[in-house]
Amino acid sequence: MSLERSEEMFNKAKSLLPGGVSSPVRAIKPYPFYTESASGSIIRDVDGNEYIDYCMGYGPNIFGHGDPDIKRAIIDQLDKGWLYGTPIENEYKLATRISDLYPSIDMLRFVSTGTEATMSALRAARGFTGKDKFIKIEGGFHGAHDAVLVQAGSGATTHGKPDSLGVPESFTRHTLQVPYNDIESLVSRIESNKDEVAALIMEPVMGNIGPILPDEGYLEEVRKVTEENDILLIFDEVITGFRLAMGGAQEFYGVTPDMTTLGKIVGGGLPIGVFGGKREIMEKVSPSGGIYQAGTFSGSPAVVTAGLAVIDKLESENVHENLNTLGDEVRVRLAEIVQDLNLNYSVSGIASMFKIFFSERPSNYQDIQKCDKQGYVEFFKRMLNDGIFLPPAQFETNFLSTCHTREEIETTIQAYESNLK
Ligand SMILES: *Cc1c(COP(=O)(O)O)cnc(C)c1O
Repeated sequence: MSLERSEEMFNKAKSLLPGGVSSPVRAIKPYPFYTESASGSIIRDVDGNEYIDYCMGYGPNIFGHGDPDIKRAIIDQLDKGWLYGTPIENEYKLATRISDLYPSIDMLRFVSTGTEATMSALRAARGFTGKDKFIKIEGGFHGAHDAVLVQAGSGATTHGKPDSLGVPESFTRHTLQVPYNDIESLVSRIESNKDEVAALIMEPVMGNIGPILPDEGYLEEVRKVTEENDILLIFDEVITGFRLAMGGAQEFYGVTPDMTTLGKIVGGGLPIGVFGGKREIMEKVSPSGGIYQAGTFSGSPAVVTAGLAVIDKLESENVHENLNTLGDEVRVRLAEIVQDLNLNYSVSGIASMFKIFFSERPSNYQDIQKCDKQGYVEFFKRMLNDGIFLPPAQFETNFLSTCHTREEIETTIQAYESNLK
């Protein structure tokens, strides 16, 4: 497999873009392939190689690349112009659909990224409650803004240490952390910060270190404890929204948060974020209230139009049932391979997300530290060489789309088997 032109392009990019890329995860070593085009489940690089894609833009492309219905909707909008700085009807229509599907969302605001959505949701939660502190889950990813750039490393730290240079410690002083799947830690963290915690923000299914699933009853307990202590529960459903079910993880698990953030799928592949929740909270967002939030590109015409097209298509084609069944099959097959090869690995996932951890089954951020990350990198390279593009990091999940055929899945499973061997 030649990657000559990709290498050339990367060498040029390196002197202009930090690490040669526009987002860190794309910096595959020694250099990433450069994409020429993509359609359906296939992504093609500039050297003429083709890959079956399980990265799918890191989640948004549930209908694969270049879906004709979404494309048509976007083009129809582009014909009418693509940035007005005024409201449009589709904005209101998409809001209606989202609010109907997510009972936790009475009102919402469109923004341009998931990062912006969680940043704004936290501001709204703090503004509404008048409290400064919030709790996040160790290893939970909520985008790249200051307050949430606290991972963990040490589960014992009460006050978050920033994970990035350039984030003053004073900015993360109010960011508390607890391990996933651990109610006792949550309860004790709340006790020691009595009446000071505005919100708990969490991915209901940990998508950015995994996927790692909630233990039986965990989300229900989280809901109960936060409610009893007057703490807003924010589900960051940027990955799980429209992925697990139309109504996201909250529908799938039957647990209703106070606020929700969405992104990825709901923009049909165009940049989007959504934050919303109870009416009394969201009415405090500007201009109806004093919690400031604004954006030139928020509710951008082509984006909300693509979002409507995605929801229509998801509803009309029974997508989740089929995809989730396919996901189950893939996970069973992979688990068999792992078992047959006597590997100390675990297959994880839910709905149309799957991943092999190069470790025993983890249930939180501490556990995943035991993964053989170097082993995964080697595995990733071999899979790529066999024409299969998985997310390059051990902790990014694989996504199925409606475009993946039986034949492609079969090819993929065989490649898993030979490369794991
Ligand atoms: C991707 C992601 C974000 C950030 O969204 P961007 O659009 O990349 O800013 C936030 N939360 C979760 C759970 C995500 O997976």
